[in-house]
Amino acid sequence: MTSALLPRKGRILIGEGLVESAVLMSQALENAGYQVTMAADGEECLRLARETLPDLIAMDIIMPKMHGLDVLRSLRSDLKTRDMGIIMCSGKDFKTDRDLSELLGAFDCLNKPIAMPLLVARVEAYFGWRAVASPPMISVPEEARAEGFSCTLDASRPHIELWGTRGSTPTVGAKFQRHGGNTSCLSLTVGDDVMVFDAGSGIRDLGIRLAAHKPRKLHLFITHPHWDHIQGFPFFAPAYISGFEITVYGAKGFGKDLESIFRGQLDRDYFPVQLEDMKSTLHFRDLTEEAVEIGGAKVTWAFAQHPGATVGYKVEVAGRKIAWVPDNEFLLGYMGPPTLARDHPLVRNYARMILFLSDVDLLIHEAQYLPEEYTRKVGWGHSSVSNACLLMKLAAVRRWIVTHHDPMHDDGFLETKLNLTRQVLESMGYSMQVSHGYDGMTEYL
Ligand SMILES: [Zn+2]
Ligand SMILES: [Zn+2]
Repeated sequence: MTSALLPRKGRILIGEGLVESAVLMSQALENAGYQVTMAADGEECLRLARETLPDLIAMDIIMPKMHGLDVLRSLRSDLKTRDMGIIMCSGKDFKTDRDLSELLGAFDCLNKPIAMPLLVARVEAYFGWRAVASPPMISVPEEARAEGFSCTLDASRPHIELWGTRGSTPTVGAKFQRHGGNTSCLSLTVGDDVMVFDAGSGIRDLGIRLAAHKPRKLHLFITHPHWDHIQGFPFFAPAYISGFEITVYGAKGFGKDLESIFRGQLDRDYFPVQLEDMKSTLHFRDLTEEAVEIGGAKVTWAFAQHPGATVGYKVEVAGRKIAWVPDNEFLLGYMGPPTLARDHPLVRNYARMILFLSDVDLLIHEAQYLPEEYTRKVGWGHSSVSNACLLMKLAAVRRWIVTHHDPMHDDGFLETKLNLTRQVLESMGYSMQVSHGYDGMTEYL
């Protein structure tokens, strides 16, 4: 046994109406090395307990003036004395008294007459237990005493959840576990309103959660209909449940209209269930210049640099701006250092996107390629790390969650890439919070 586990000699208060018994107990405990005080009745016992704060009280259940169990109750209801060690002593083996003592947290209940070696052994046992079970007793300043503080998460606050953070195609395997392998999907919950951004494979898990609750209105904003942004829709459970009303928003400019695109991926040759089999009420809305208002949130959009009519979204809610731009090849073809100014001719081509993202509090945006990878991927619709960093600086974005991770980038690679991103931002003299998104990431705004 180490010295830290040895019983500590402490201060003991004896509450005992019979003087002979009290003296015997006192002598036995003092001989065992304890410091002892005596109280002749219940009231004195309670008063001395409050004044002297002993480590342990050994008291008779039947004491003059105040019953031992009432003393125990009073001690337990007071912040200063509630954790005090208690050994009850009883002249008769009343089961109810024993049970109540135990319920009130007495360490032990001994039958009188008590053999002194047994008393010392139980006292030693108490201090031995306390040395192991609780931190060393330290005297807490009077000013620090307060009612305990506890808090619970206010789930009604607006919050985002990332359900899919992989770009291009889902990934599986141990090497991808930390970031996850589902393709693009984000939800933003504001009170009763749920806005969903993209329907990559991550939307399946979101659908399972939503389907477990009563049907509601949902708003699904699609950035563009490449597979990794719509492939989860056929597995989105609320779409099959009567009572759910789902409005799908998307840009005009693809070969087909939005509804035809969703209907097309449910073609009988690709999938056994068709759009008509979905029991929810589905609406398809083309985006217009007008903002979409949902509850207290305002959703606007801007075109991104990506094959086809791809957009990014921005939500203004509760005084915060959050943007979702998972696919955006900022500064198409640029391989140089991230030092271009706003008035550089190349940067001027992106003025609308920079303006759109100006002063955004939280931007969820890609940086799919390392600069050297980008040399072989120009025109694929995705940014290099350094070009994405420059966008953050030019738009004065405050916080960046990187998403749309390349399916070739495993967890280890992504750790390195995140540190590289931070290094690039630092070299540019731009200080901002940046982290990598992962499937399941949840943040309250
Ligand atoms: Zn994509
Ligand atoms: Zn795409």
